[in-house]
Amino acid sequence: MTVELISVGTELLLGNIVNTNAAYLAERCAALGLSCYYQTVVGDNEKRLEEVVRLGLSRSDILILSGGLGPTKDDLTKEVTAKVFGRELIEDAHTRGRIEEYFHRVHSDQVTPNNWKQAMVPEGAKVVDNHNGTAPGLIMEEDGKTAILLPGPPNEIRPMFERDIAPYLDGLLPEGIYSKMVKICSIGESRAETMIADLMDAQTNPTIAPYAKTGEVHLRVTAKASGEEEAGELITPVIEELFRRFGDAIFTIEESVTLEEAVAGLLAEKGMTVTTAESCTAGLLAGRLMNAAGASNVYREGYITYSDEAKERLLGVSHETLMQYGAVSAQTAEEMARGAARAAGADAAVGVTGIAGPGGGTDEKPVGLVYVGCFVKGAVRTEEFHFTGNRAKNRESAVARALTLLREELLKIRD
Ligand code: ATP
Ligand code: MG
Repeated sequence: MTVELISVGTELLLGNIVNTNAAYLAERCAALGLSCYYQTVVGDNEKRLEEVVRLGLSRSDILILSGGLGPTKDDLTKEVTAKVFGRELIEDAHTRGRIEEYFHRVHSDQVTPNNWKQAMVPEGAKVVDNHNGTAPGLIMEEDGKTAILLPGPPNEIRPMFERDIAPYLDGLLPEGIYSKMVKICSIGESRAETMIADLMDAQTNPTIAPYAKTGEVHLRVTAKASGEEEAGELITPVIEELFRRFGDAIFTIEESVTLEEAVAGLLAEKGMTVTTAESCTAGLLAGRLMNAAGASNVYREGYITYSDEAKERLLGVSHETLMQYGAVSAQTAEEMARGAARAAGADAAVGVTGIAGPGGGTDEKPVGLVYVGCFVKGAVRTEEFHFTGNRAKNRESAVARALTLLREELLKIRD
């Protein structure tokens, strides 16, 4: 079943407001299993709105219109759609009562005659109560086509969609939509896609859709099915195949679990503590680890050592290392990790040093060069990275890679 989104409002065309309703509706419709092939933005103009509605009805099963349901003259969505469907507008007593009650409750002194316009509904339309405003939502059905009219303000459209429209749309669809998220680190986006190219080419139901995040690749496996059980039968073999291909690089198949939670979980499982010594990321890595609930069980203290002097004093990085190799070097990253583990009495430690930019780069050590040292059980592994983003992005990438490196080293400990 296809859905088409029509966002009504001259403000949208002029760029005065961002069309967040379309983004929201598109995402929600996709999650419900509706295919959306067209989105249109049209101004508060009767003729053009009518054209857009007629065109939409000629090529899509369901139209969802947002905006233009209010009390003012430029709010035309209901009038125009009713005209296209050949319906008269009649007063809906229930809605009139709700509007009276609303003004009584909130703005009793502000009710103006045009507010009653919102109680007028197309004959035969389903009326959907607005719990956060006065204009009700409206659903019109005719010859297998459906038009759903929703108010423009996000704080009205969203609760209305969640409460009444999503279940209504769900009822129109014979099948539900079920999905699982497979989250991968250690492998880049293009390599991950190449590794599943054959699966993606052959996919029908379920489908696999990759999403790249900083330092992670997420694969959403989505099935259309008549129920949970059938969905499981479709999705499980695909997840198993992904595990065969990606193995340990999959850090979770839970939608809500983050990389830092997976790492903190692994540390807790192994009864280990971790510390961090950060130069260019300056606390960002510790901050991300701390996002994980229960991180306090595995993390006690950490170090932000921006200057060479701090690296020497707090972590015991040797003066010679800093002189000979520089603060941004594999040697310094290694000594930072070792020194932090020693100073904090932790079982594991991650040292990060690099050039986040925009300044500070040289030909030999360009912006985006980052070294991560990971100390686990007496040994340190260091890695060199070259990031190509801006300062914020480089720091974020360094944190993601540091977490990944730590996870890889922890997985090597087979107990
Ligand atoms: P009202 O009763 O407030 O007039 P309405 O249903 O007539 O509501 P509009 O007049 O089109 O809706 O828009 C009202 C406000 O809602 C806009 O000023 C804007 O803040 C927000 N809005 C409208 N459409 C969108 C959209 N597509 N995305 C995000 N916000 C929107
Ligand atoms: Mg309006």
